[in-house]
Amino acid sequence: MHFCKTKRHVWLQKEDALKCCNGYKRQLVVGDQIPEDARNVQIEDETGVRFCRIWVKVEEKNPYLEEEISEHELEES
Ligand SMILES: [Zn+2]
Repeated sequence: MHFCKTKRHVWLQKEDALKCCNGYKRQLVVGDQIPEDARNVQIEDETGVRFCRIWVKVEEKNPYLEEEISEHELEES
């Protein structure tokens, strides 16, 4: 077992633990969206649709930029 960066989640694979809470998030992909090297593909019983969860990079927000915008709005009002 491997803990992620924040120690809030546990993963069987070390590579998953390294990405969790560390600039990546889990996203559900179906059918043709599933990458060929995906290890955890599942098939939904009812529909037969293949799906799995992959890691995608999180778009990082710039907290300083947001601060600047809100300050500017205050000046105007
Ligand atoms: Zn995590």
